[in-house]
Amino acid sequence: MIANKYEKLNIFRYLGGIHIHSMFSDGTGDINSISKAAKRAGLDFIIVTDHNSLEIEEGFFNGVCVIKGEEISSDNKNHYLALGINECIQSDNPKEFIEEVKKQGGFGFAAHPDEGENKKGLNRKNPYLAIKWTDKNITPDGIEIWNWFSQWADNLDDGNIFSLIYCYLFKHNLITEPNKNTMKWWDELNNNTEKIIPSLGGTDCHELILKDYIIPIKIFPYEKMFKTITNVLTFEKPLSEDFAERKDQILNAIKEGNNLIINRKIDKNIPEINLTGGSKVKLSENLYLNIETKKKTLIQIIHNGKELYRKIAKKCNLKLKEKGKYRVEIKVKNKGFAYTNPILVY
Ligand SMILES: [Zn+2]
Ligand SMILES: [Zn+2]
Repeated sequence: MIANKYEKLNIFRYLGGIHIHSMFSDGTGDINSISKAAKRAGLDFIIVTDHNSLEIEEGFFNGVCVIKGEEISSDNKNHYLALGINECIQSDNPKEFIEEVKKQGGFGFAAHPDEGENKKGLNRKNPYLAIKWTDKNITPDGIEIWNWFSQWADNLDDGNIFSLIYCYLFKHNLITEPNKNTMKWWDELNNNTEKIIPSLGGTDCHELILKDYIIPIKIFPYEKMFKTITNVLTFEKPLSEDFAERKDQILNAIKEGNNLIINRKIDKNIPEINLTGGSKVKLSENLYLNIETKKKTLIQIIHNGKELYRKIAKKCNLKLKEKGKYRVEIKVKNKGFAYTNPILVY
């Protein structure tokens, strides 16, 4: 497979879709159709996370690196995206399953932790059950800060069929930015520890097929969903051509917080940032955080959970004068576009 070399920074980028459901849980696709959709959407890797299942195959399919994980799912709370595990885990107890994932050599992300709150911070108006992370004193290895499907459902006014049709037709308008409470929790967790608590962005796509009509109706097709929330990994060298090695490289990068989370529905141009999320850099005289975007955007830099910099611009060169954790948020026309993981300056 050809790596996406990005000449200017001399790096290689790999785009991935994470949090996907197949026919082995409540999705409809098999590995062949899902990987084809990922290829058409320009993804290099996908991580399929069926509810309580590891049945899907993994390997290279249709030019896409397919990795399997599990969404450990009790009926109504505490969903957990477990990556790098070999045996399926079935447990309702977060403390227990977080440990079990570690025991298997894996790591995990609390999925859609604040599901149920619409963009005004109010509870969902529709009757569908919201699945939250119920005890924020229980610290997961990482957090899914943005979940497309959850956010769509949170903003769905299910009063009548017209509002359902409206919400479906204008579905992308309902996706704005990660939940504020989730971001707050993520910053707090990072403020309380030296290590980096990583985050990822999920589509939570299922490709539902409504069969009660003369022609079955496909909603939220995989390909369209794959063109929304994407995780961009950055490497200095191309990844291995061997599947097992590449899987390790990708999972290790996600564990470290290398991924930049972007919504490609908002903008397709990946921002150029000189420091990669998850990296640890020593404070020095000439340490700068350089950010460049194709169009004018709102660039925000957060230092230890507090906003340090905010400007509408195409470029930012900020001298880093203090130790701590820095992360970047980029918004386009008031909508969330890109989120880095923390960069640790020590
Ligand atoms: Zn879930
Ligand atoms: Zn899910």
